[in-house]
Amino acid sequence: MQTAMIGGGYVGLVSGACFAEFGTNVAIVETDPDRLAALREGRIPIYEPGLDKLVADNVAAGRLTFGDNIEQAVQGAEAIFIAVGTPTRRGDGHADLRYVYAATEQIAKCMKDYAVVVTKSTVPVGTGRQVSDLIRRVRPDLDFDVASNPEFLREGNAIGDFMRPDRVIIGTDTTKEGGAHRAMEIMRRLYRPLYLIEAPILFTSLETAELAKYAANSFLAMKVTFINEIADLCEKVGADVHDIARGIGLDNRIGRKFLHPGPGFGGSCFPKDTLALVHIAQNAGSPMRLIETTVDINDTRKTRMAHRIVAACGGSVAGLTIGVLGLTFKPETDDMRAASSIPILHHLAGAGATLRAFDPAGMEAAQPLLPEEVVYCHDALDAATGVDALVVLTEWNEFRALSPARLRELMKGDVIVDLRNVWEPKAMRDHGFQYESIGRPLIE
Ligand code: NAD
Repeated sequence: MQTAMIGGGYVGLVSGACFAEFGTNVAIVETDPDRLAALREGRIPIYEPGLDKLVADNVAAGRLTFGDNIEQAVQGAEAIFIAVGTPTRRGDGHADLRYVYAATEQIAKCMKDYAVVVTKSTVPVGTGRQVSDLIRRVRPDLDFDVASNPEFLREGNAIGDFMRPDRVIIGTDTTKEGGAHRAMEIMRRLYRPLYLIEAPILFTSLETAELAKYAANSFLAMKVTFINEIADLCEKVGADVHDIARGIGLDNRIGRKFLHPGPGFGGSCFPKDTLALVHIAQNAGSPMRLIETTVDINDTRKTRMAHRIVAACGGSVAGLTIGVLGLTFKPETDDMRAASSIPILHHLAGAGATLRAFDPAGMEAAQPLLPEEVVYCHDALDAATGVDALVVLTEWNEFRALSPARLRELMKGDVIVDLRNVWEPKAMRDHGFQYESIGRPLIE
């Protein structure tokens, strides 16, 4: 089976490589010259565990190719995936669909035979129909279907998520006369290996599939925000947020995942998807006040975290040196999009601090987004050397293993603000630190 994947970013590259691993031929089209050059030279332009081998194996097997020529890629393809970015539109918070529509138009112009055009990008309700209308306008002669197949993979665990998903959702045009059987049959064939492992595969309408993606991400964002607020309350009343997370998470109706407090959610999906859902709902005349509030709380949380660091340093960071461990929005990725480190480091630099930062994967992506004066260090201990205070912003595993005694020797001051709770409060205090974390009672 032949398929085309338009966009070779996180989603396009991972899902393209995974479809190839399933035995399908995948032609990935990427317009960014640097990304394309890297892919052609066998370099993976993003950090994702296991992806280099998966890509190399499938390129070697002749099932995975990279190019910038859409026309070539779509010839003979039964499914054409659109996996381009849908960032927040500047100014109004809507999803910016210009890349989706540009890709659609390019696809329409060069399709020859029947194919199903599938949006894998996260797109607002109604986009599938717009894609269909656009193709019909450009090529009234063409026989095609559209489908929505939102992607639920998580960066850092993307291959596992794609190969063993909790579910796959496939929306087709249920209003089509005679049904969208052909599209459904192609999608079933593509995902056949997942039927074998009994992964749930849900067929829905286009609109349902599109909205399900926003609903899933917004629910998770709301869950994170909920535990963050519980953590704040814990600090006021002397309770422990981790015990509460476990205590409530063991209830199957709640579940244990996404109950880890921190400096607020970031990344390429939750901030933009919550905002987009707010706008989708407002436009539909059915506002989602829970999500509006989630967005608000999360935005202000980042500034509050910066204030908290300043307070831990005695009310001013002017003239102080602060070490920063972790910059990416979560561990096991180099993705810096909407990372909490961005507003927090800008605030600290603006308040007069000198910043020494280390991240195992994200420093290159971080540089254009962080204050110019940030000093990038070669490891965590280097970032801690001579600093007045140390701040943890991402919970990379290697930070958990750092010796508190060694940190104490290297640091000039004794303040640690651990916004990811990677260390035990008692151990840190026993080593002489003024240690603050999120939602855990202070130990006297
Ligand atoms: P990305 O920015 O990493 O990748 C998009 C790629 O598409 C870029 O490399 C860009 O150069 C390329 N591109 C844009 N227009 C093109 C065109 N006309 N032809 C060929 N290539 C083109 O974005 P991403 O993180 O992969 O996200 C893609 C979509 O998937 C978004 O809608 C996102 O919300 C959604 N999504 C992302 C994740 C994630 O974890 N990153 C998870 C699930 C869903």
